[in-house]
Amino acid sequence: MRRKLVAGNWKMNGSADSIRGLLQGIREGAADVAAVELAVFPPFVYLGLVEQQLSGTAIGWGTQNLSEHASGAYTGEVAGPMLQDFRCKYVIVGHSERRTLYGESDQIVARKFAAARKVGIDPILCVGETLEEREQGVTEAVVERQLKAVLDLEGIGAFVDAVIAYEPVWAIGTGRTATSVQAQEVHAFIRAKLAALDPAVAGKTRILYGGSMKAANAGELLAQPDIDGGLIGGASLEAKEFLAIAKAGC
Ligand code: PEP
Repeated sequence: MRRKLVAGNWKMNGSADSIRGLLQGIREGAADVAAVELAVFPPFVYLGLVEQQLSGTAIGWGTQNLSEHASGAYTGEVAGPMLQDFRCKYVIVGHSERRTLYGESDQIVARKFAAARKVGIDPILCVGETLEEREQGVTEAVVERQLKAVLDLEGIGAFVDAVIAYEPVWAIGTGRTATSVQAQEVHAFIRAKLAALDPAVAGKTRILYGGSMKAANAGELLAQPDIDGGLIGGASLEAKEFLAIAKAGC
C-alpha cells in the first residue's frame, strides 16, 4: 500500500515571517491528516528556518532544486551534501519551470536525480507535456523520454524510494487542472513503463499529480488508483488549503 504524499512547492515565495506563520498553521493541522505524508519545499535561504520549525514533527522538507555537482566552482549553486546538512528528505528535480526557464535538459535532470540519490535524498522527478505536445498527441512519448533519461543513467532500482510527479505544463499555475481521467491515464502509463522493467518497484513508486490542484478538485484526483498524492504550488501557500488537500487524500 502506497502512503499518499502531499508536497508543497513554495517556489520563490515567502518571507521569514510568512513562513513561520504558514508552518505554524500546517503543524497545528497535521494530526488531522496523519494518514497522508506532508512535505514542504521552501526557497533555499529558508531551509534552516524550516528545519528548525519542523524538527520533531512528522512533516518532511526539501528543496526545489540542487546542483548535479557535489562541490566546487559553481557560483550560485547548492549541492546535495549541503541539503543533507539540513536533513532534507526530498528534493524536486526537473520541475517544468527549471526545464523551460533555466534550460535543464532531460540529461541534466537525470544527473540531478543521481546527485540526490548519492547523498540519500529521495528525488521527486517532475515530468509532463506542454499544451502543444498534448494537442499533437505526444504526451506519452514526452513523458517516456523524460523517464528514460533517468532510467538510462540510474536504472529501475533507483525508483524504489524515488517519487515521480506528473505535472502537465499547461496545468501548472494556470487554474486549468487535468481531469481525473486525463491524469489517471498518464499515471497508469508511467506505472506500466516501470512495471515492464520491475513490477515490484512499479508497485511501490509513488506518482503524484501536480497542476492547479486545490481542495475543490483534490478528492477526485486523489481517488484515482494510480495517483498517490499531489505536488502543490499556489495552494500550498495557505495552511488551510494545503491541509484541506491532504484531508481529501485521507
Ligand atoms: C507546481 O509548481 O509544481 C504546481 C503544481 O503549481 P500549481 O499548483 O500552482 O499549479
